[in-house]
Amino acid sequence: MANEKEAAPVEVKKVKEKKGKKPHKNKPTSQKWKKYTISGDKITRAKSCPRCGPGIFLANRQNRFHCGKCNYTEFTKK
Ligand SMILES: [Zn+2]
Repeated sequence: MANEKEAAPVEVKKVKEKKGKKPHKNKPTSQKWKKYTISGDKITRAKSCPRCGPGIFLANRQNRFHCGKCNYTEFTKK
């Protein structure tokens, strides 16, 4: 009985480069926490969308408030 220790040929599999799939990039966070301000023991929330309800905030642009979810836009009066 010959005890043969044959080293199995290790096959190095080459990692194929994926085609068509772009590497995932993280988006910057929406930073919702900046829409809340705590004054004393009360929380004041920034303007929220009347269509989407509370929790969905409006982005403050130059002359308007804009909801990124439903495209609601509210122009600020001068
Ligand atoms: Zn909305």
